[in-house]
Amino acid sequence: MRQEGAAARHSVVSLRGVSKRFGARTAVDALDLEVPQGICFGLLGPNGAGKTTSLRMIYGVTRPSAGSVRVFGLEVAREARAVRARLGVTLQENVQIESLSPTDNLRIFGRYHLLDGARLADRVEALLDFLELRSHADVPVSALSGGFQRRLAIAMSLINEPELLILDEPTTGLDPAVRLALWSRVRELRAGGTSVLLTTHYMDEAERLCDRVAIMSEGRAVADGSPRELVARYVRPEALELDCTPQEEASLLADGDRDWQRLRTGQRLVVYADEASAVAERIRKRDGGDRRPLVIRPSNLEDVFLAATGTKLEEHP
Ligand code: ATP
Repeated sequence: MRQEGAAARHSVVSLRGVSKRFGARTAVDALDLEVPQGICFGLLGPNGAGKTTSLRMIYGVTRPSAGSVRVFGLEVAREARAVRARLGVTLQENVQIESLSPTDNLRIFGRYHLLDGARLADRVEALLDFLELRSHADVPVSALSGGFQRRLAIAMSLINEPELLILDEPTTGLDPAVRLALWSRVRELRAGGTSVLLTTHYMDEAERLCDRVAIMSEGRAVADGSPRELVARYVRPEALELDCTPQEEASLLADGDRDWQRLRTGQRLVVYADEASAVAERIRKRDGGDRRPLVIRPSNLEDVFLAATGTKLEEHP
C-alpha cells in the first residue's frame, strides 16, 4: 500500500511540453508544470502570460497544440469527461442564470452533475451554508451584489465535491471583507483534502493562500516554489522604498554596497539589501538630514513577481 507521504507528493495536474498557438500567436510555450495533490497552487503572471489558456487546457475546453496535459493521472485530451466529473471550475465571468435564485441555480447545476433527490437537496443546503448564501438563497441572481454572485459561482463549482477546484481570479473586484471570507473557505477546502489551483493578480492573496506558486511570463513558467522560497531566491530579504529621480539616485547611492539590488518604477525606487537600515543611513547622510520619507519593509512576492517577469533588478556596480 502507498504511504501517506508518497500519496501527498502525487501530482494532481501534470503538464509536459504543453504549447498552445492561436494562429501566429503562442499563448503557452512548451510549459512544464506539476501541481502536487492536496495543496493550494497559484498560477501568477502579467496580463497575457498564458494563465487562463493553461487552465482551459487543464479543464479540457481548449486543446493543446502540442504536449501532454494529465489531471488525476488521466490524459485530458482522451478522457475529458471523466476528468471534468472530478473537478470544479470557477471562471472569471459568472455563469449563473440571472433570473433564478442561488438555490435554483445550485439545483440545476447539481442535476447537470447527475445529482438528485435527498443527495442533491443536502448538497444545496450544505453549500448555501458553506458560502454564507443563506440570507439571499431565494433572491434572483440579478439582484445580488458582486460578492454574493462570486460566492454562488464558487458554491456551484463545489456541487460535485470536486477533488480539484480551479479558480480563475476568484477575488478580482471584491471588497476586502469578501476576499477574507473566500480565503478562509479555500483554506477549509484544502484542509479537507481538496486540491486548489488558482490564478490571481494579487500577490498578497498568493502569499497568504498558496503553498506553491508558478510565475508565468510569455507562456512559460519562469519561477516555481513556495512564496517564501521564491523571495529568498530572487531578492534580498529587506526592501527600502523612496521617491527620487534617477539623478538623485546616482548621488544618494553612489559607492553603495555591491550586494544591493535596485528596482525603479517611475519616481519610486526600491533598494533590496540584507540590512535596509544601512542603506537608509547612507541615504540620510547624503540627503542632508531626515527629509526624505523612507519605508523599510520585508521583501515579498510582489518584488519576486517584478524581478521574475522582466522588470530588471540592477546589482550595484
Ligand atoms: P490575464 O491575466 O489578462 O487574464 P492570461 O495570463 O490569463 O492573462 P491568456 O488569457 O491565457 O493570458 O492569454 C495569453 C495570450 O493568448 C494573450 O496574448 C491572448 O491575447 C491570447 N489568446 C488567448 N485566447 C485566445 C484566442 N481564443 N484567440 C486568440 N488569441 C488568444
